[in-house]
Amino acid sequence: MKFYDSHIHWQDERLALSMINDFKECQNLGIMNWICAGTIPDDWKIIQKLSEKMEGLIPAYGLHPWFIQEHTDSWKDEIKKFLSNPSALVGEIGLDAQVEVPWQKQVDVFLYQWNLAMAYEKPIIVHCRKAYEELRELIKKEGIPTKGFLLHSYSGSREQIDEFVRLGAYFSVSGNITSPTNKKAKLNAVAFPLDRLLIETDAPFMNPYVNGVKWEGINRPQNLVCVFKELACLKKMEESKLSSQLEMNFKKFLSSILESSESHSG
Ligand SMILES: [Zn+2]
Repeated sequence: MKFYDSHIHWQDERLALSMINDFKECQNLGIMNWICAGTIPDDWKIIQKLSEKMEGLIPAYGLHPWFIQEHTDSWKDEIKKFLSNPSALVGEIGLDAQVEVPWQKQVDVFLYQWNLAMAYEKPIIVHCRKAYEELRELIKKEGIPTKGFLLHSYSGSREQIDEFVRLGAYFSVSGNITSPTNKKAKLNAVAFPLDRLLIETDAPFMNPYVNGVKWEGINRPQNLVCVFKELACLKKMEESKLSSQLEMNFKKFLSSILESSESHSG
């Protein structure tokens, strides 16, 4: 079976030490591609370098809502340079009502990048916490990006899923679904339409439960497989069927990006 990780931070220094080994193990497990999500200008540079040497790594560049205040506006020009790469997408960008970053500032930074993605015709990776209603309103006002968007590790309500489906959203499930106490994540996983579904590790964050026990230390890229297995269980699907479906979804969501990287190398 083949697997696709739609959200990871390979650039994080905590993954750097064992990167070569982890990368090999991932390849052995059948993990084919990663969307490597940027969060600040400093890691955009690292991601760009990684994407040049790690087969299957797809770069995403974005300023994450948690880090907005640490940056002056020079990032706005800088990100355009990174996005001139036809194989890059936008993310992770978003809205987070659980951090103390001024709301209007979050909205401005989010919309700047949302509109950049529309202008550059790129798919978008979205981080959202406790702000799904506001996110939906903004999207309706700004417009739906032609290349689509992904709500990573979705934590909104069941009802909001339908509304985002109508806006064309993809959803990715993370290690949250493996937690024995996170009933909401499990129910949402059942509710996501099969053709809008992706999986992710968010490594080194979002530790999963492996065989009912919380993973200790940092989350590793290899743990994508336990997210997958739990999802197959929740969806009551044969694993081979689910993996083909997820492969199709990943390739559909990223069709514009994958086409351009193929024509790049070939
Ligand atoms: Zn992330």
